[in-house]
Amino acid sequence: MSATDRPVIFRNGLVLTMDDAHTVLPGADVLVVGDRIAEVGVGLTAPDDALEIDATDGILMPGMVDTHRHMWQTAMRGYGADWTLTQYFVWYYLESGKLFSPEDVYAGNLLGAIEAIDAGVTTTVDWSHGLQTPDHADAAVDALEAVPGRFVLAYGNIQQGPWEWATSPEFRDFHRRRIDGGKLAGFQMAFDVTGDPAFPERAAFEVARELGAAVTTHAGVWGATNDDGIRLMHEGGFMTPSTVYVHAATLTHDSYNRIAATGGSVSVSTESEQSAGQGYPPTWQLRHHDIPVSLSMDTSVWWSGDLFSAMRSTLGADRSREHLEAHAKQETITHCHLRAEQVVEWATRGGARALGMDSTVGALTAGRQADVVLIKNDASPVMFPILNPHGHVVFQAQRGDVHTVLVGGRVVKRDGRLVGVDLAAARARVAATIDHLREAMGEEAWQRGMNPDVPETAILENPYQYTEWDAGSAQWKH
Ligand SMILES: [Zn+2]
Repeated sequence: MSATDRPVIFRNGLVLTMDDAHTVLPGADVLVVGDRIAEVGVGLTAPDDALEIDATDGILMPGMVDTHRHMWQTAMRGYGADWTLTQYFVWYYLESGKLFSPEDVYAGNLLGAIEAIDAGVTTTVDWSHGLQTPDHADAAVDALEAVPGRFVLAYGNIQQGPWEWATSPEFRDFHRRRIDGGKLAGFQMAFDVTGDPAFPERAAFEVARELGAAVTTHAGVWGATNDDGIRLMHEGGFMTPSTVYVHAATLTHDSYNRIAATGGSVSVSTESEQSAGQGYPPTWQLRHHDIPVSLSMDTSVWWSGDLFSAMRSTLGADRSREHLEAHAKQETITHCHLRAEQVVEWATRGGARALGMDSTVGALTAGRQADVVLIKNDASPVMFPILNPHGHVVFQAQRGDVHTVLVGGRVVKRDGRLVGVDLAAARARVAATIDHLREAMGEEAWQRGMNPDVPETAILENPYQYTEWDAGSAQWKH
C-alpha cells in the first residue's frame, strides 16, 4: 500500500477512535504520517507540509470492514432485488453463473472495489465464488489490485466441489503466483459444507490448513447448510479462531457452542438474511453465546456495499426480535440490549478481528494503518446536532455523507469525490458485461430472471360490513 508523500492532518473533528475504551474525542485532530496514524488528540502539531483537511462539524471514524461480499456480482447491481435464495441459486449456481468470463469477473470486482472505498469500507473480503478457471482468479485479483483499497481474496468456485478445485495443481499455482508475496491484504478459502456424512470437504480443509489460509463458509443457511456441517467441521478439527461463519442464522445451540468454543466469528449479513431467507439475523442469539460478530453486505445483486445500511438493519433486526420474543410472553422490553455503539464496533473492530487484522486496522490509534473515514456534509440538515455520536453514524449518516477516505495514508476520496479512480472505465466494462449476459441469455430469460413470479395472495374473509359515513345525517349508513 503506497501512501501519499505528504502527511495528512484532519482538524477539529468528532473522533470515534473505536479503541478498546471506545474513546470519543470532540474537537480533535488525527495526524497521518506515511501509511500510519501518528497521533490522535486535541490541537496537534503537524509537519509544515501536511495536507490539512477541515473536519469541523464532521465525524472521524476508522475505515469500515466488510467480511463477506461477492464482488463479481456487482456487475449485476440490483438485478435480484425481488429474489429469494431460490432464484439466486438457480441463476448463479445452476443456470447463468457459468456465463461469466474472466472479463466479467474483472468488471464486477472493479465496480465493487470502487463502491467499497467510496462508501468508507476500506477493507473488504471478496467472497469470490465465481472462479471457474485460473484466468477468472487472475482477473479477480487484477481488479482488486487496480483499486486503492484493502482487499482479502476469499477464493471459491461454485461450479466444482471444493475437494476438486482446492486440490488442483492450478489452484496451487495461482496461490504461488498471486498470493504469496502479492499485494492483497489477505487470503481465505471460501466454500460451504453441505453435511454429507462422507465429508468430502475434508480435502479442502486440509489444503487450507497446509496453506495457512482461513476458511470462510456459509453456515446455518436454511435449506442449504445446517448443524451437520458444523459438527463435521468440529469433529475434523477444522474449526479455528480464524474461521468465519457467514449468516449462521439457522443453527441450534449445539452449533453455536461449538463455534464459541473454537473461537471463530460470525459474519452477519442482516439485509441478506431478511430478504433471501437464510434465517433470522442471528445477533440476538450470538450475544448469548458470546460469539464475535462482524458485518457484511453479501452482494450488490440485491443490496448495496453500504455498511451504514448493515449497521442500521442489524440494530433494527435485533431489537425487532427482542420485542417480538417478549410480546409472545406478554412481556415488554424496556431496555434494548443492542446499542448503536456495538454495531459501530462490529463494522470496524469486529471485522478487523475476524480477519486477524486487529493490530493493523479497525481503530484510530497511533501506530495503526491510516484507514480513516470523515463523515461530513455541510449542506445536509442531518449533520447537526450531533448529540449521540455512535447513534448518529448508525441512524443519521449515510454513504453520501462520506466526505474523505484514506486507505493506508493514501487519500482515495476527498470532498465527496473519488481520487485516482477511473469510474468511466469501470462503467464501460460493466456495460459490456451486461450486454454479454443479456445476449447470451436472450431477452426473455433475462427479464424472467429479474422478475420472479408473484405467488397469489389469499385474501382473508372479512367479518365486518362495508359502511359509509353519511355527513348529512352524521351517521354510518349500511
Ligand atoms: Zn454469501
